[in-house]
Amino acid sequence: KQAELRAHELSIRDALTGLVNRRSLIQQLEHAVATSDRHKGEFALLYLDLDKFKQVNDTLGHEVGDELLRQVAARLLAAVRVSDTVARLGGDEFVVLLEGKGAAANAARVARKIGQAHARPFEINGHKVQTGTSVGIALYPQDAPNAAALMRNADRAMYHAKQNQRGSVEFFRDELNAREAERALWTHELKQALDANEFEL
Ligand code: GH3
Ligand code: MG
Repeated sequence: KQAELRAHELSIRDALTGLVNRRSLIQQLEHAVATSDRHKGEFALLYLDLDKFKQVNDTLGHEVGDELLRQVAARLLAAVRVSDTVARLGGDEFVVLLEGKGAAANAARVARKIGQAHARPFEINGHKVQTGTSVGIALYPQDAPNAAALMRNADRAMYHAKQNQRGSVEFFRDELNAREAERALWTHELKQALDANEFEL
């Protein structure tokens, strides 16, 4: 029985931080979508990526990087309610799932709280290590029709937060999708114009 329990724990947890892993997060996300549909409720997905994390690995070593990820996970857990889901997707990417009453209204407040918690320096093996977190927020059902699209849109919002200002928080907006489509079109047209030698000085 104990071995079974341990095997189950290993299958749903991230080995480094002990947080929920990607596979298990997706299951919980599907569950949140079903609950939300049934009760006409809503929930929020926060998509996080640490800032300049590679620098920590490169200057202080992978072990310090690993310890930073563990401490980041601990501060994340401390910043949310026990009923919220905190997952590590892999690398320096994390997701927080906020369910229950007022989740959408609370999302920005929780994101800022996490941002502040991660902006404080970390103490690792006598080193003061500084990082930060960029956060993208997407809300169900208003920002996406299903779990996969919600993840994608929260990721997009995070990417824009990082581009605008590292350590900031950004909500997903449909406009972000439009901007991506426009960028793709421009890239395509520029490439065609180059190939066809259509540029003149
Ligand atoms: P940015 O501010 O743009 O997010 O830059 P960044 O340096 O944080 O780079 P990015 O998020 O693109 O890459 C995350 C890096 O995390 C890439 C990889 O070297 C490192 N990494 C991935 N998994 C692990 C891990 O388990 N342990 C450690 N120590 N590093 C990892
Ligand atoms: Mg990063």
